[in-house]
Amino acid sequence: MSEKRIELPAGISVRDLSTKLKVSPIDIIKKLMANGVMASINQMVDFDTSAIVAAEFGWDAVPESADEEEVLESGELPLWRQKIASEKDGDLKSRAPVVTILGHVDHGKTSLLDAIRQTEVAAGEAGGITQHIGAYQVEKEGRLITFLDTPGHAAFTAMRARGAQGADIVVLVVAADDGVMPQTKEAIAHAKAARVPIIVALNKIDRPNANPDRVKQQLAEQELVPDDWGGDTTVVPVSAKQKTGIEDLLTAILLVSDASDIRANPQGKVMGTIIEAQLEKAKGVLATLLVQNGTLKNGDVVVAGTAHGRLKAMFDYRGKPVQKAGPSTPVRVMGMTEVPSAGDVFEVFANEKTARDVVSKRLEVLKEQNISSKMSLEDLFAKFKAGEVKELRLILKADVQGSLEPVMKEVNSLSTGEIAIKVIYAETGNIGENDVMLASASKAIIVGFNVQADVSARRLAEAEGVSIRLYDIIYRLTEDIEKALKGMLQPAFTETVTGKASVLAVFPVSKVGKIAGCRVLEGEIRRNGKVRMYRGTDLVYQGEISSLKHEKDDVREVRHGFECGINLKNFNDVEVGDIIECYTLEKSA
Ligand code: GDP
Repeated sequence: MSEKRIELPAGISVRDLSTKLKVSPIDIIKKLMANGVMASINQMVDFDTSAIVAAEFGWDAVPESADEEEVLESGELPLWRQKIASEKDGDLKSRAPVVTILGHVDHGKTSLLDAIRQTEVAAGEAGGITQHIGAYQVEKEGRLITFLDTPGHAAFTAMRARGAQGADIVVLVVAADDGVMPQTKEAIAHAKAARVPIIVALNKIDRPNANPDRVKQQLAEQELVPDDWGGDTTVVPVSAKQKTGIEDLLTAILLVSDASDIRANPQGKVMGTIIEAQLEKAKGVLATLLVQNGTLKNGDVVVAGTAHGRLKAMFDYRGKPVQKAGPSTPVRVMGMTEVPSAGDVFEVFANEKTARDVVSKRLEVLKEQNISSKMSLEDLFAKFKAGEVKELRLILKADVQGSLEPVMKEVNSLSTGEIAIKVIYAETGNIGENDVMLASASKAIIVGFNVQADVSARRLAEAEGVSIRLYDIIYRLTEDIEKALKGMLQPAFTETVTGKASVLAVFPVSKVGKIAGCRVLEGEIRRNGKVRMYRGTDLVYQGEISSLKHEKDDVREVRHGFECGINLKNFNDVEVGDIIECYTLEKSA
């Protein structure tokens, strides 16, 4: 019916589609699955697919007619660019281009990133770059180029879906002996949708069966007509293996960057994108931030998504401490109180109070968006045993590709004749909300290997009844799955809150960190219990007590009405007014 006509763009993320159709992302994902498309919330779907989904919800979809200019003026601009749109032209200074490398699997993205990284080492960089922080910079003709060191378009798509778009230029790696493949086409689609210029790196040119002309023909078919054929796509033959053509590629990047308007205001509003982040035992949250406007300074109060914190230390991509970072600079920072999601836009606020207010508003919005379709691990196994479910679906997350593959292999080998284990999605990186959404929609369990679950993901998992299981040893993981298959999984844990305390004062103690001076409001605080700490309604810490003192003595517990000193394990951002809740976990019958 023409009443429910809706305009949809050529490509749209599941998240945006759900907003447009005013239904939950989970329902969209379910409809997609019913149509045989496995998609996560940030995944892009084309018009034909989104139109089918729209029809299922009673909409009559037509292709969006807006012309480019109009689209560019409105929401299609990356969020950070929209936010700096008010910068005065005269304040904008040219900045280093930010480059991301996309392409089909095995075409050499990682090798190329390594080769580029090493040219700088060869150029006299003392010690070389040993750390991977998700981004690095190289110098060419006295100018800097920033490379995002997170190959693959999953990261790129995540950024785009969140409106961040980290990159100014896409280097599309195409193996000269293999040509344009499905993921090459996907990468082209992403780059085009984001209106980011593409440079083609024709890799593996050293291979005897390399066939540059055939690849150029295929590129032309994708509307990337090589410049030596009269088109405007720069195609640079390279060999990541033999490290040839790298300098030409860097020159091409500078040329394309000169032709684009790559500018920002170093004195303007500070903002950028989270490239990656994780929790490390000794250091707390470590996050790599790409500054896109303004100048980030050590000590600034940063908010990204629902994570916030005052920066305690900043390091450049070589691990050298720095005090400030201007546009296009990636920095590793310490001081966030929870792990932000890759792709989130970060901003700087005047003080921690404002930052917390922003975060709690965002959390409220998130809460409203919560939707339920519960399926706990126990339910799943019950169904399994009853024969209702013949397939155990897993979503696998691991720290690096190198561990993902062996884990996948192990897990797959556990399938027996009657029962299949199906890994529906496997990726590197921490467990995020997307994974929980996908797990909930597809009734899967999330299994993490050497990774953490983001706070927001844990919250969502709780609401959705999705099981997240974390491991650091492969055989424990396989053992659990085997037990699960035999219906013998360890019983779940029941939580009992033993007491609550409020923080009355905070004392810095050298070497130990901050001690929270507390009064126990109800029940008792136990030395060996687990704790959660709330600031208002905001959960700011979950973990353990590392010391509990009454007066000067270490004690096992402190009861209602008494005062005590609490030191939280690996956490130092305690504030007056915080509420510490102590609980125990016991195996349920
Ligand atoms: P990715 O999946 O795109 O990151 O690809 P990798 O960088 O992991 O490379 C895949 C395989 O191709 C590896 O075995 C590399 O050693 C090989 N490779 C990458 N670049 C070249 C190249 O320029 N020449 C040759 N001969 N092999 C290459």
